[in-house]
Amino acid sequence: MYQKVECDIAVVGGGPGGIMAALAAARCGAEVLLIEQGAFLGGTPTRSVLGPISPFHFQDEQIIQGIAGEFISKMVKSHGATGHMKCMNPTGTGSYVCFYDHEIYEDTAQKMLEEAGVSLLFHGTVLETVMRGRRIETLRIESRFGGLEIHPKIVVDATGDGDIAALSGEKFVLGDGKGGMQPGSLMFEMAGVDTNRLYRLYPGQPGRVCKAVGYHSSGQRKTAAAFCGSGV
Ligand SMILES: Cc1cc2nc3c(=O)[nH]c(=O)nc-3n(C[C@H](O)[C@H](O)[C@H](O)COP(=O)(O)OP(=O)(O)OC[C@H]3O[C@@H](n4cnc5c(N)ncnc54)[C@H](O)[C@@H]3O)c2cc1C
Repeated sequence: MYQKVECDIAVVGGGPGGIMAALAAARCGAEVLLIEQGAFLGGTPTRSVLGPISPFHFQDEQIIQGIAGEFISKMVKSHGATGHMKCMNPTGTGSYVCFYDHEIYEDTAQKMLEEAGVSLLFHGTVLETVMRGRRIETLRIESRFGGLEIHPKIVVDATGDGDIAALSGEKFVLGDGKGGMQPGSLMFEMAGVDTNRLYRLYPGQPGRVCKAVGYHSSGQRKTAAAFCGSGV
């Protein structure tokens, strides 16, 4: 037996894409339900260990602002992110990076969504879509609270993998269509590292060690190091 729920916009997925989409829609006055299969927000950036948040800059100009910029500023104010730090030896990812704390990422996202009036459903996985022509009429969800049938006016697929489009019968291509996809990466974090000493161990190897220097909103100087490649 499915419990029925109506809303203007159903955002499926609580990763960075879903968080931003839900905030934008709710701030425009829509009644938004965000459905996340996990127990917390953030998607890949909080479920796994990424490197830093990739650049919001082109050369020295910050070209990404808006809600994403606001989100980073709030994390910085909560002492949960370094802000955009210029890399002295850029790696392939660009010249500015932002390191962040997983729990503060989740917490900042949840507070912003709650303030905007977004309804959150955790532990809910969309397993089926019911179509009327090319429009999604119903999302069928299995959750810890039983089965739910969501009847949204609009669905935003923020599953990261296009799950909703695929469930709805849309054609899709994996990666570049020739089997080429972004490879997995193995990341870990360490605290209490003397980054200046570490950096001196690898002079002239800009592809392997990226040293980022930035200033916290408190004025305190921060450094971080990221390694690329193997055998470091
Ligand atoms: C190996 C690797 C390394 C990366 N390294 C970096 C990095 O260093 N820096 C960086 O900035 N970016 C990095 N990225 C990219 C970054 O992870 C993505 O750009 C970002 O996570 C995309 O956000 P998203 O919201 O689209 O999807 P996701 O983060 O994947 O979030 C999707 C969310 O949808 C939920 N979901 C999925 N299916 C369903 C369903 N059927 N029902 C309900 N919920 C569902 C998932 O639980 C998840 O929370 C990396 C990606 C990969 C794969």
